[in-house]
Amino acid sequence: MLIDSHCHFCFPELQTDVQGVLSRMRAAGVGMALNISTSTRDLVQVVQFAQEHEGIFASVGIHPDNTQTDEPDLATLLAHSRADKVVAIGETGLDYFRLREPLEWQRARFRTHIRAAREAGKPLVVHTRAAAQDTLRILREERAQDVGGVMHCFTEDADVARAAMDLGFFISFSGIITFKSARSLREVAALIPDDRILVETDAPYLAPVPHRGKTNEPAWVRHVASTLAELRKQSFEQVCEHTSNNFYGLFKVLR
Ligand SMILES: [Zn+2]
Ligand SMILES: [Zn+2]
Repeated sequence: MLIDSHCHFCFPELQTDVQGVLSRMRAAGVGMALNISTSTRDLVQVVQFAQEHEGIFASVGIHPDNTQTDEPDLATLLAHSRADKVVAIGETGLDYFRLREPLEWQRARFRTHIRAAREAGKPLVVHTRAAAQDTLRILREERAQDVGGVMHCFTEDADVARAAMDLGFFISFSGIITFKSARSLREVAALIPDDRILVETDAPYLAPVPHRGKTNEPAWVRHVASTLAELRKQSFEQVCEHTSNNFYGLFKVLR
C-alpha cells in the first residue's frame, strides 16, 4: 500500500469529482492520504472531509502564502487540532518566492503554528520556498524538534535535508522528482535514509510525469514512488513499505 502524505482534497479542482478521485486512488493501491488545510475555510472542511472518508486524515493550518485570511491565533489552531482524525499542524512555514519583505507577519504566523503543534503534541507539515535558512532557524528557536514533522514537497539541497533530519523531520518528495530537469533534487532523493522518507502529490498541483500539466490527484503518488524506487535502486515494494511505515510512525496512525 502507498500513502499520499500531502494533498488538498478541498480545492475546487478535486471537489468537482470527489468520488472519481477517491475511487481512482483506491484502485491505484493508495490506501491513505493526508488532507492539508491552507485557509480559514479549509480548517473546518479538511476535518469534515476526513471524518466522512475512510483512510483520509487531516492537517490544520494556514498556508504562509495566504494573505486573504484572518490571522490564525494559537487558541483557534488548538481548537481545530483536537478534532477527530486531525494528525498534524500545517501546512505552515515560509515562502519568500511568491511574497516579498516585509514578511515579519509570515514568520510570526509560522511561530504560532509551531507553538500550537507543541501544545497539541502533533507534528508539523512545513512548506519552505526560497527561505530554507530562516525556516530552519525558526524551527530551532521554537524547539520544533519536540514534535518533529515533515518538510513537504522538498526541493532544497542535501545540507538542508540533513539539518531538517537533525531536528527530527522527515523529507517528503513530490512529482518534481519525476522531472528530468530536477537533477540535483533527484540526487538528494537517493540519499535520504529509508526511515526518513515520505511521498506526496501536493494535488491538485505538480502532476508527475507522465501526467505533467494536468490536475494532479492522489492516485498518481504511484509515479512518485516508482521514480523514487528507480533513483534509490530499490524495489517499488520497498519504497511503499518504508514510506507507509514512516507515515504511521510520524502521524501516529494505526495501520
Ligand atoms: Zn506547500
Ligand atoms: Zn500543499
